[in-house]
Amino acid sequence: TKRTVIITGASSGLGLATAKKLAKSGEWHVILACRDFLKAEKAAKAAGLPKDSYTTLHVDLSSLESVRQFVKHFRATERKLDVLVANAAVYKPTAKEPVFTAEGFELSVGTNHLGHFLLVNLLLEDLEKNREAKPRVIIVGSITGNTNTLAGNVPPKANLGDLSGLAAGISEKSASVMIDGGEFDGAKAYKDSKVCNMLTVRELHRRFHDKTGITFSSLYPGCIAETGLFREHYSLFKTLFPLFQKYVTKGYVSEDTAGERLAQVVSDPKLGASGNYWSWNNDQSSFVNDVSDEVADSTKGQKLWEVSEKLVGLK
Ligand code: NDP
Repeated sequence: TKRTVIITGASSGLGLATAKKLAKSGEWHVILACRDFLKAEKAAKAAGLPKDSYTTLHVDLSSLESVRQFVKHFRATERKLDVLVANAAVYKPTAKEPVFTAEGFELSVGTNHLGHFLLVNLLLEDLEKNREAKPRVIIVGSITGNTNTLAGNVPPKANLGDLSGLAAGISEKSASVMIDGGEFDGAKAYKDSKVCNMLTVRELHRRFHDKTGITFSSLYPGCIAETGLFREHYSLFKTLFPLFQKYVTKGYVSEDTAGERLAQVVSDPKLGASGNYWSWNNDQSSFVNDVSDEVADSTKGQKLWEVSEKLVGLK
C-alpha cells in the first residue's frame, strides 16, 4: 500500500511541484491541503497527477477553526499518516496596512506560523500512532529568516525580539501587530514567520523526537523566484528578481528542482535524521545547514512554543 503525505499549499509553486514528484513515484498518496478546492483540482490535473494518487481536502490556515475541521476530515479518510509537510505561506511585501486572520492575528504570522503550529500539534498523535513507519514532519523554512547568510541580511531583517508583541496577541486591538512589538512591516512579518517555522521544528525535535520517533525537519529549497509567493510584489521586481537570482546570487532553482528537494526530505532514507535544517549545493547534494543565532536560541524556541500554545487555544 501507498504511504500518505499531507502537503499544505499544494495548489501552486513548491507544494504542487513536490506533490507531483511524490504522486508520480507511485509510492505516495498525496493529500492536497488547500484553501481553494477548485484551484487545487485544476492544478493537480494540469500537473498530470494520476487520478487515484491524490485527494484534495480543504484547509484555510488563516482560520484555526478550519485547521480543526481539516484534521477531522483527514481522520474520516481513515488513512494512516506518514508525513506532514507544512508548506503554505503568504507574503505581503508591499502591504501598507496589516490584515488579519479569522481569529484576529496579523495574517503572515497567523497563517504561516500559528495555523501550522496548531495543525502540527493536532496531527502529532496520528503520526505517533504510525511510529513503525518512521513518520516525518517538515516545516518549510527560508534563508530570508537566516541572518547568518547574505540573503538573510537584506533589510528588513527578521527579529522576534522578546516576543512581547506576539504574547500580547498581534491583533488589531493590541499595541503592535509585530512579534517584536514594533511597527508593521509586511516583509519583516513574513521573515519573522519563517524564523518561527524553523524555531518550531527545533522545539518539536527537542520535545518529541525521543518520545515519538518522529523525524522533524526544516529546509531551504533554494530561491524559486517565479512562484506565486511574489504575486503581490511590484512588477519590476518580478521581472528583475529571477534574473538577479540566476546570474548574480546563483541561488535560483526551478519549481521542479525545488520540488525534488522537498520530496527528498519527505522520503529519502538519507535525510531521515531529526532536528535538521537541510540545504543543497549547486551540484544538487544535500547538507545540514547552520541556522542563525536567533533560530539556534532554544530559550526563545521554548518561549515561542508556550506563547503560541496559548494563542491557538491548546493551553
Ligand atoms: P506559492 O505562493 O506558489 O505557494 C504558497 C501556497 O500557500 C499556495 O498554494 C497558496 O494557496 C497557499 N496558501 C496561502 N495562504 C493559505 C491559507 N490561508 N490556507 C491554505 N493555503 C494557503 O509560494 P511558494 O511555492 O514559493 O512557497 C511555498 C513555501 O516555500 C513557503 O513556505 C515559502 O515560505 C517557502 N519558500 C519559498 C521560496 C521562494 O523562493 N519562492 C524560498 C524559500 C522558501 P493558493 O494557491 O490558494 O494561493
